[in-house]
Amino acid sequence: MKKNFVAVLAVVAMITGVALFLQQRQQVDAETTRRPGKLRVVSTNSILDDLVRQVGGDKVDAYSIVKRGTDPHEYDPQPTDITATADADVVFYNGLQLETGGNGWFKKLVKASRKNFNEDVFAASQGVPVRYLTTNRHEPDPHAWLDLANGQQYVATISRILQQKDPANAKFYERNATAYQAKLQRLHQTSQAKFATLPANRRLLVTSEGAFKYFAAAYGIQAAYIWEVNTESQGTPEQMQAVVKQIRQSNVQNLFVETSVSPKSMQKLAQETKLPIKATLYTDSLGAAGSTGATYYQMMNWNLTQIYQGLSAS
Ligand SMILES: [Zn+2]
Repeated sequence: MKKNFVAVLAVVAMITGVALFLQQRQQVDAETTRRPGKLRVVSTNSILDDLVRQVGGDKVDAYSIVKRGTDPHEYDPQPTDITATADADVVFYNGLQLETGGNGWFKKLVKASRKNFNEDVFAASQGVPVRYLTTNRHEPDPHAWLDLANGQQYVATISRILQQKDPANAKFYERNATAYQAKLQRLHQTSQAKFATLPANRRLLVTSEGAFKYFAAAYGIQAAYIWEVNTESQGTPEQMQAVVKQIRQSNVQNLFVETSVSPKSMQKLAQETKLPIKATLYTDSLGAAGSTGATYYQMMNWNLTQIYQGLSAS
């Protein structure tokens, strides 16, 4: 009996050892090896990374600096991020002041990696109609991708740059981009039609960060929030009072929280207003692989479905 147990332990230890070895090797491969013939594309966050993969398919090696589930406003680049950026053929960032926390972490990374803006570093948001912050009207609101029409503009920009950098595969990128834009457009239109049926006094979306300005304009609702951008002070007593007042003046039945922020402030708001938190939304990051927000399309579909259900519920 005891002998068998020892034998089982030995096998388990061996399997674990092999698995760990393989996992480490895969990580090293993913981080440092350059696959010949592939365009190496680095993006600042998981949403842009997915758009690059949708357009680039197997012609690109895609790398995301800020990983899934992590806030891209503030970030501390790791040595592997600097290596990947220095090695990249193309680097995409959101722009509209998304990557400005920590005194401009992305600008510093570009400098450290010896890359140049508009030569090999491009803002994926170029061409979208910019909306500005309410608290600071000369600063752009970065969350443009939460409107699917803007998402299609991001895809157009990514496709154009990939075609420039890799003309041999231009047709391939163009075909992928066109098919993917059509898929986004279908979701955009069916969602607009659904939201148009909501009664006026139900059209208030409450989240922690005010990430839904573009979303609200696209789908015909109002967006309320505790704090406006993740780089500001978050959940102060004044901010809490203001949003409680807005909620009491409305007929809102549900609150929402986002995956890439701490849920504490929203939990406090739920207690104070006695309203439930209906769902967790994806704003600044994709969810883990296999989750309801594993891709940009899935995260938008999830957000639109949950928000519609939350606002239409009586
Ligand atoms: Zn944000």
